[in-house]
Amino acid sequence: MAGIYIHIPYCRKACHYCNFHFSTTRYNIRQMQDSLIQEAALQKDFFKSDAGPVSTIYFGGGTPSILPAAWIAELIECIRQIYPVGATAEITLEANPDDIHPETLQNWQQAGINRLSIGVQSFIDKDLEWMNRAHNAQQAYQAVAAAKHAGIHDISLDLIYGTPYLSDQGWQENLQKAADLGVRHLSAYALTVEPRTALFKMIEKGKLPPLNGLKQSRQFDQLMRWADLQGFEHYEISNLAAPGCRSRHNSSYWQGLPYLGLGPAAHSFDGLMTRKWNVDNNQVYIQGITKGKDVSTTEVLSLDNQINEMIMIRLRLMEGLDLGAFRKQFGDLAGAALVQKAQKALNEGQLTIENEQLMLTRKGKHFADSIAVDLFV
Ligand code: SF4
Repeated sequence: MAGIYIHIPYCRKACHYCNFHFSTTRYNIRQMQDSLIQEAALQKDFFKSDAGPVSTIYFGGGTPSILPAAWIAELIECIRQIYPVGATAEITLEANPDDIHPETLQNWQQAGINRLSIGVQSFIDKDLEWMNRAHNAQQAYQAVAAAKHAGIHDISLDLIYGTPYLSDQGWQENLQKAADLGVRHLSAYALTVEPRTALFKMIEKGKLPPLNGLKQSRQFDQLMRWADLQGFEHYEISNLAAPGCRSRHNSSYWQGLPYLGLGPAAHSFDGLMTRKWNVDNNQVYIQGITKGKDVSTTEVLSLDNQINEMIMIRLRLMEGLDLGAFRKQFGDLAGAALVQKAQKALNEGQLTIENEQLMLTRKGKHFADSIAVDLFV
């Protein structure tokens, strides 16, 4: 099993909290499309022969729904010609509500898209305004309803909590709306303030209140209670799904399967120990790929980095970290050291071990990243 990620680095507006790689000027968008096609061909030997067929394709960004549907079809067709794509491949498009219309939905389906990840973020206008999103609450609701009406059953929503003006009641209403819309997958992110974002400067200048950790924690609890009521699996710290509706693409990242990233700033992993990432500059990417050059930087993970990465990623998963597999990969000594380091969090009820799986408890999920860091070598 293998996955392909395609980064579409354009957005209509810059959301104030965002630090992804994107541009709001689109003068070179057709050259970008041609470069993505060219890079897909340049990377034709990326996967090892035993990697199996490509089982997931993911258009992320940026805002992939900004592309004409015919271009999305062109990219999927190009990938199908170069790589063996499985008959039941999950093909996801990240789409913003303002791009979702009945006709576009039909064209995306014809292109082969069978899953949508919709960037709703909130169903409350006041939130969307300070975020500088390109859509309003009504558009968000209508977009999800239209996608369902079009017969796309595999729909995920992105929502953000712990934001400056979001009350606990507002968050509950956002979750309720997702439930009312019959959504089977939710990616819910606690707002973070990244350096060099407009949000960072707004808080620094006192134009927005700083984040409130207690509120974020309460709203995370609300999220977990909501998931229980919906019968959703909280299968990764920020991802919740009805049984059988997990994101196959993102799950493959967390399982350490190989994936190829195409486009500026896209990351790739060979499934063993080598990562690479493309230059995060649209014009430099286009110029490099046009000349047939490699535009990536490669890192071979050290043993310590492999261990730390496994701890960080697996602890965020509902199934936790398989201690037997950990010992098999890194040795009994490393396994014993891990359990010893975990003792404090085990005693404090933040971690538990069940059937050889080291897992966060509900209490521990509030501190997932810091607990993982404490276990690092
Ligand atoms: S649409 Fe997405 S990628 Fe674009 S600026 Fe907003 S959050 Fe960032």
